[in-house]
Amino acid sequence: MEIKANYHTHTNLCDGANTPEEMVEAAIKDGLQYLGFSGHFDPDVYMDIEKYKKEIRSLKEKYRGKIGILLGAEVDRLFDVTKAEGCEYIIGSTHGLNTDEGVMSVDSSPETLKKLCQEYFGGDYYKLTKAYYELEATVVDVVKPDFIGHFDIVTKYNDELHFVDEDDPRYLKPALDTLEYLCGYGIPFEINTAQYYRGKKKEMYPNMRLLKALHDFGGRIVLSSDAHNSAVLTGAFDVAAKRAAVCGFTSANILIPDGSGHVRWKEVAL
Ligand SMILES: [Zn+2]
Ligand SMILES: [Zn+2]
Repeated sequence: MEIKANYHTHTNLCDGANTPEEMVEAAIKDGLQYLGFSGHFDPDVYMDIEKYKKEIRSLKEKYRGKIGILLGAEVDRLFDVTKAEGCEYIIGSTHGLNTDEGVMSVDSSPETLKKLCQEYFGGDYYKLTKAYYELEATVVDVVKPDFIGHFDIVTKYNDELHFVDEDDPRYLKPALDTLEYLCGYGIPFEINTAQYYRGKKKEMYPNMRLLKALHDFGGRIVLSSDAHNSAVLTGAFDVAAKRAAVCGFTSANILIPDGSGHVRWKEVAL
C-alpha cells in the first residue's frame, strides 16, 4: 500500500474530536506525506469558517518541511460553495435533501432518515434514494469539487434498517445513471472507509457493485477515511486498496500542492 495521504478529515472546529494540531501530530506519526483538512461547509454542521481557514493556514506554515498540509473543504451540495474561497481543494458531498422544513439529512440519524422518508416520500425508500441520486448528479456542476465524497452515503443505515435492496433496479438504476454521468467529468471519487472501520457497514462507499461499475466507466479513485479523530487517519486503507484491486483498479490518486496555491492529482500504484 503506497497511499500515504488523506484529504477527508474533520476536527473539533466542526464535528471531529481532535484539534487540527493533534491531527497533524498523528499524521506525522503515521508517516503521512500529505494531510488534507476538509471541514464541513454544510447546512447541518456549524463551523466558524474564517477561524478554520486561519488555523489550518498557520499549521501549514508551522509544519512546512515535515508534512504537506492542505486547506480543503467538504462542501455540501446544498451549501454556499463561495464560502470555500481560498481553499486548496473541495470535496463535493451530498448529505441531505431540501424539504419544506429545510434541509433534512440522510446521514445524521436513522430517525431523521425515517422522518424524511415518511413525510416526503410516502414511506417509499426507493423514491427517496432516487431523489438523492438526482440531487447527487448535480454536485459537480454546483460545487465544482476536486473529488466526490461518499457517493452512496444514502445507504449509511442500510445494514441496520434494510430499507432498500442495493441490487434492486429501483435503487441501482438511479445510482448507476448518476455514477456514469458524474464519471464524465473525469474527477476522482473517494473510497470512503469510515462506516466500515466503525463496524457499522460491511461495505465502504461506494459499495463493491458501484465501485466495479466506476472502474468500468473509466472512473478514478482517491482513498479517504473521513477521519473524525486522530486514530483513524488511514483507517482501513489496506482493505480499501484490496477491494479497489478486486474491482480492477491498479492505482489511486493523491493531491499534491503545485507551489502556486493550487493542487494537482498524481497517480500512485495501489
Ligand atoms: Zn460527508
Ligand atoms: Zn466528511
